[in-house]
Amino acid sequence: MITRTGRKPRAISFRPVFVLVAFMAFGAWVGVTGYLYARNVALKDTQARLQQLSEQARALSLQLSEEQNRNDMLAGEAAEMLKQLDQLEAEIDRLRERAGLPKLEVTPARGESQGKDGQGGGVPLDTEAMLKLTAERIKTLTGNLSAKIEPALEQTLAKEAARPVGYPLKVHTYIASGFGTRRNPFGRGYEFHDGIDLPAWYGTPIYATAPGKVIEAGWSNIYGYYVKLDHGYGYRTLYGHMSRILVKRGQVVKRGEVLGKVGSTGRSTGPHVHYSVYVWGKAVNPVPFLEAPAYAKR
Ligand SMILES: [Zn+2]
Repeated sequence: MITRTGRKPRAISFRPVFVLVAFMAFGAWVGVTGYLYARNVALKDTQARLQQLSEQARALSLQLSEEQNRNDMLAGEAAEMLKQLDQLEAEIDRLRERAGLPKLEVTPARGESQGKDGQGGGVPLDTEAMLKLTAERIKTLTGNLSAKIEPALEQTLAKEAARPVGYPLKVHTYIASGFGTRRNPFGRGYEFHDGIDLPAWYGTPIYATAPGKVIEAGWSNIYGYYVKLDHGYGYRTLYGHMSRILVKRGQVVKRGEVLGKVGSTGRSTGPHVHYSVYVWGKAVNPVPFLEAPAYAKR
């Protein structure tokens, strides 16, 4: 029955099946709509969440890349430090070699402490480990420098300062007769020449080739008027055939100080200096001593 105010009521009849179907259809529509609505809400929620997540991920990745950059920079610095340390160690080793000391014993370099193969082999050090290693090596090196190298170096420098260097003459000369076995200039056969002969004009000054003390200054049938110097560290030099001796036994002389004058006294055929170099009592070839040593040229 359907009634409206002021009108006659109307009667509409439905079949019960129709009513049932209509109710079921309505119910289905409400259900579907509700489901769709709920789903839509959930979807929007998920979308928002996804957006948020992606923003977080972006921020994180930015942070990470910054961290990575900083890490790379630190690693670069550490690597540079290690490189400089290597150079410093090599330099110190060269000094130690000059001082006659064995090579440095430092903390093992990158990866050397680990096995070359098997576990741990070839694993690159991270920045922290590298910086730690660097700090350790700096400590070792500093300790080495002050405790071992400095005294050795001082001794080395003293030894190098005592080494005879250059010609005993400041005028142009040449090696008229070298070190070693030679023909006897006065007769038959061969003899051993324990120095070199450097010709120069009669009266040319003869100079000490290293600082030292005059241990002999006098006459010898072989060397004529001669001077022998002791430079310490096993080094001695002899200057022979002088026309005049200008130093006295026991006198301390500097490098380059005048010892006497060129002559032809003793077993000599003309004005020249006979120059001998001794190392720990043994006459050696003076030629290597005429040139400045390699370390002085660097
Ligand atoms: Zn000679």
